[in-house]
Amino acid sequence: MAAAILADARAILLKQYKLCKRCFERHAGGRARQDGQCYICRGLMGNLDSTADKIIDAVRGYEFETFLIGATLPTQIYEREDTMRARLKIRGRESVKSQLTRELGTRLARLARKKVEYTKPDITVSLAIDKENNVDVAVRSRPLALFGRYVKKSRGVPQKQDRCPSCEGRGCDSCNYSGLSGYGSVEGVVAKGLVEMTGGQVPKFSWIGSEDQSSLVLGRGRPFYARVFNPRKRKLKKSRISGNGVTATLSVIEDEPDLQPRFKVKTKIHAKCERALAREDMKKLNSLAGAEVRFENRNKTASKKIHSARARRLHGIQFALTMVADGGLMIKQFVGGEEYMKPNVSEILGSKCECVMFDILGVELQ
Ligand SMILES: [Zn+2]
Ligand SMILES: [Zn+2]
Repeated sequence: MAAAILADARAILLKQYKLCKRCFERHAGGRARQDGQCYICRGLMGNLDSTADKIIDAVRGYEFETFLIGATLPTQIYEREDTMRARLKIRGRESVKSQLTRELGTRLARLARKKVEYTKPDITVSLAIDKENNVDVAVRSRPLALFGRYVKKSRGVPQKQDRCPSCEGRGCDSCNYSGLSGYGSVEGVVAKGLVEMTGGQVPKFSWIGSEDQSSLVLGRGRPFYARVFNPRKRKLKKSRISGNGVTATLSVIEDEPDLQPRFKVKTKIHAKCERALAREDMKKLNSLAGAEVRFENRNKTASKKIHSARARRLHGIQFALTMVADGGLMIKQFVGGEEYMKPNVSEILGSKCECVMFDILGVELQ
């Protein structure tokens, strides 16, 4: 009863202000008889239908199930609402902004048959409203995280793409806003494919290990993560991208892990030695199985385990060494022994060796 009387009193007081239907109802809790000029929103709340139409236009082309609408309103609207509330001692009422975004959310949900979601919406609609109540609508979709593996069957394809020389990766006219110098590398091939498939921006990659430009990557391929910003499409299930001797298969994942997983790599090293090799030398190399290779890395001692090793003489001074080792072992240094790395191939054979080429036969995540 007391509350009803209070509400009536408030309604009477509110009549001192010219308010639109929504702004009146928001503060009085009752029904307003008429719509009209509004002291608080100056007609903004009366334009919800046309604003909703603008939003529908802006989200067209985005694949989404969930969304969130945010807005920035001119400070004058809040100031007027606050002033009126202070004078009439109105507390605990919904703000003009939250009513606006809530009502637009209801409309978008109904018109597009989608759901409002606060924590991880597929798209975020941002409204910027100026003093004249002009509404600018911007849409941004949640980045799409993918896990993939690539196989590289032709030599001479680098893993990473150089940045565009004109803009150093920021994106410019000459690189078509990709930030890349081209699309010849593994990164370039996959980036181009993902942009075409998702309609998003050029992705960011996290590679699980790396190889040489001249290396092949075989077996199930090298794993990697990719993150596509502002994708239009996000239902990709399982996708395949190929070009330049590279084939990548990718699937959408919930999110990229914070820590890169540990991994083991099976590598086939093709090397040569300064002297002719005997069968004994191959036995020495086979004994690398189980060894811990220690080396200095940024003033810290790191170690990588060799899980298996199998050496084979090729002809003359050349040999092949196939081994499974912890990911991140630097193959050329391990063969050459230039860097502080112990044990290393040159040391074991007592003669200077050099890595001619190496191929990745498989990468296993742990
Ligand atoms: Zn109003
Ligand atoms: Zn550029």
